[in-house]
Amino acid sequence: MKKNNIAVIGAGIVGASLAFHLSTYGKNVTVFDKGLPGSGATGHSFAWINAFGKLPRHYFDLNHRSMDLWSRFNETLGVDVGLKWGGNVTYYADRQKGQELLDQCERLQSWGYPIQTITQEELAELEPNLNIGPFFAGIHTLTEGHVIPTRVAEACMAKVQENGGDIYLDTSVESIVETAEEVILNTQREEFKFDKVVIAAGVDSTNLATSLGINLPQRVSPGIVTRTAPLPPIMETLSTIYLPPGPEDEGEIHIRQATDGSLMCGAGDQENENDDDSQEYADFLLKRASRYFRSLDGVQAERVPVGLRPMPEDGLPVIGFPNKSTRIYITLMHSGVTLAPIVGALGALEIATESSVDSLQPYRPTRFN
Ligand SMILES: Cc1cc2nc3c(=O)[nH]c(=O)nc-3n(C[C@H](O)[C@H](O)[C@H](O)COP(=O)(O)OP(=O)(O)OC[C@H]3O[C@@H](n4cnc5c(N)ncnc54)[C@H](O)[C@@H]3O)c2cc1C
Repeated sequence: MKKNNIAVIGAGIVGASLAFHLSTYGKNVTVFDKGLPGSGATGHSFAWINAFGKLPRHYFDLNHRSMDLWSRFNETLGVDVGLKWGGNVTYYADRQKGQELLDQCERLQSWGYPIQTITQEELAELEPNLNIGPFFAGIHTLTEGHVIPTRVAEACMAKVQENGGDIYLDTSVESIVETAEEVILNTQREEFKFDKVVIAAGVDSTNLATSLGINLPQRVSPGIVTRTAPLPPIMETLSTIYLPPGPEDEGEIHIRQATDGSLMCGAGDQENENDDDSQEYADFLLKRASRYFRSLDGVQAERVPVGLRPMPEDGLPVIGFPNKSTRIYITLMHSGVTLAPIVGALGALEIATESSVDSLQPYRPTRFN
């Protein structure tokens, strides 16, 4: 049996960020993942860094603050994680949807979000390869971006090791027992003892929490983002674009081109639920995208298995100690790519110093007690 300090269960982008930030406090950190870093929701993510549709106001503020931390987080990691800024454009041909978008733009401006309306001509200048089609209204957010989230999780793991921590991959934590003195973790191979344990196991967090008598309700939220192999540059300026439905389509699609050239495409909004991971559906998504970017004609869509978003029942993140003891800490959230820098930084502060950060109050797990 080993006596260690803090364990993090889960090397997705959120758990990895938390583990990295904890290691900067001089803590002895051990990370367990049943697969590889980023192999959960993180590896399926569209990875749009934004606060665009986030409500209520405190949740918007948390996301906005995290966006501002992203560049510094990337610098500290010291490797290329595919971070690309450039902003997002959303536009509609439909008058009612266009008007709703303009109303949302006004609200976000009043909240201090860098966003402005955009004309068809301005959009054509930003994205010369885009076949815009009918256009009623559009908005341009200036400070949004995207990242390659698996690279972030891997970079955090490298830093944890550099700071003296241990990483156990392909190691599933099968049980957790909390006593007054310690927390005991059992993996398929070994038993470990820690002073504190962070549960950052994404959709699997609920089962782990339940075994400790902690209520952590989640709903199932499947999502599909199809990909291509690396392509020459198609999007010239923007990091992401939300495109309106065509005449016979079911809804909008969103597209981004990662810095490695691969293109990702999903349907609906960021929380759109869909579990069709067939090759036919992937082809269909890319065909829709090719109406807007003609050079996508004939490009092969790669089938990506369905991704399950960690999704607390009320849609808001869960961050904090679920009971009076400070031995167990929980992080569970959608938008974890946007939120990874702030949750890592503030979560580590709370765990390492046993303090309580005001801006995390709305997200406490105790709300489900
Ligand atoms: C289709 C889709 C699109 C998305 N788009 C966006 C977006 O545009 N912007 C955005 O900000 N967010 C987006 N998200 C959400 C974001 O990806 C997630 O919120 C984020 O990845 C969660 O990270 P995590 O570390 O909490 O969980 P995960 O990435 O799921 O990591 C949990 C880890 O825990 C490990 N694990 C589980 N159980 C155990 C166990 N018993 N023992 C050991 N290890 C265990 C798993 O192997 C996994 O690696 C999207 C998600 C999906 C699925």
